[in-house]
Amino acid sequence: MEDFFIKSGDCGEQLEGVRYPDSVEPYYLSVGEEVSVFEQCHQRSLAVMLKGPTGCGKTRFVEHMAWRLKRPLVVISCHDDLSAADLVGRFLIHHNGTVWQDGPLTRAVRLGAICYLDEVVEARADAVVVIHPLTDYRRVLPIDKTGELIEAAPGFQLVVSYNPGYQHVSKDLKPSTRQRFVALDFDFPPPEREAEIIIHESGAERAVVHDLVGLAGRIRGLANRGLAEVPSPRLLVATARLIANGITPQLACYVGLVSPLTDDPGLTAAMRDLVDAIMVE
Ligand code: ADP
Repeated sequence: MEDFFIKSGDCGEQLEGVRYPDSVEPYYLSVGEEVSVFEQCHQRSLAVMLKGPTGCGKTRFVEHMAWRLKRPLVVISCHDDLSAADLVGRFLIHHNGTVWQDGPLTRAVRLGAICYLDEVVEARADAVVVIHPLTDYRRVLPIDKTGELIEAAPGFQLVVSYNPGYQHVSKDLKPSTRQRFVALDFDFPPPEREAEIIIHESGAERAVVHDLVGLAGRIRGLANRGLAEVPSPRLLVATARLIANGITPQLACYVGLVSPLTDDPGLTAAMRDLVDAIMVE
């Protein structure tokens, strides 16, 4: 992750896992009304859900908004083992007894931070339930193990991300959870915006980035021929960085774009043909 924030460990009194806005603005190119809607939600303490495919700028958007709103940021990557205790905290055994240690969500609640739960649907059901009382008028976090009921400090805001493309029926967000959020839709940016982002993030030349975005458009068209994953802006940025570092555009596309997307020989050949046709040296 880019260094737009001062992280724990950089400064003694800061809390583990909490990132504080640095003087450098995290670069984010907006594609709609998401910045102003988010600002309104923040003012009204409304929880926000960012919906969209991987690599299309959701995390960068949250970093940008935390910087804009001058709030600390706690980012939690959810996975299928993530439990309520991982979010809220647990008792740890020390040589002189047990001590309570806040989890990252509790830290964010006490501090009035923006707390971003990336891919929330991956978390265990007990972890998802824990966030419910934080998303309504109560804005509290009950900690069963200590009997504490923590009121969220001013500025606290819950943000989750959700990739509708990945969900299985067994792993979808329950309506009772979904309806607690304002939802902002994210998608791949229009070509000229995508090119602007890639140029900024990679330092590659405009002409080659223009070709790369054209190539991505053609490869995205292969989705209906069985390509499960299509190239995200993240993948294009990574490929453009290889090109900016001096690797030939063709090779950069083979290793940075084609190979990460599929193992299927037919699709690989089709994509390589597109690379050869579009990415002229
Ligand atoms: P997500 O959280 O949706 O998986 P990220 O926010 O990590 O995706 O975006 C991946 C990368 O793509 C970012 O690090 C950034 O380089 C680039 N990116 C994508 N969209 C934007 C945008 N709108 N503005 C700036 N950078 C973007």
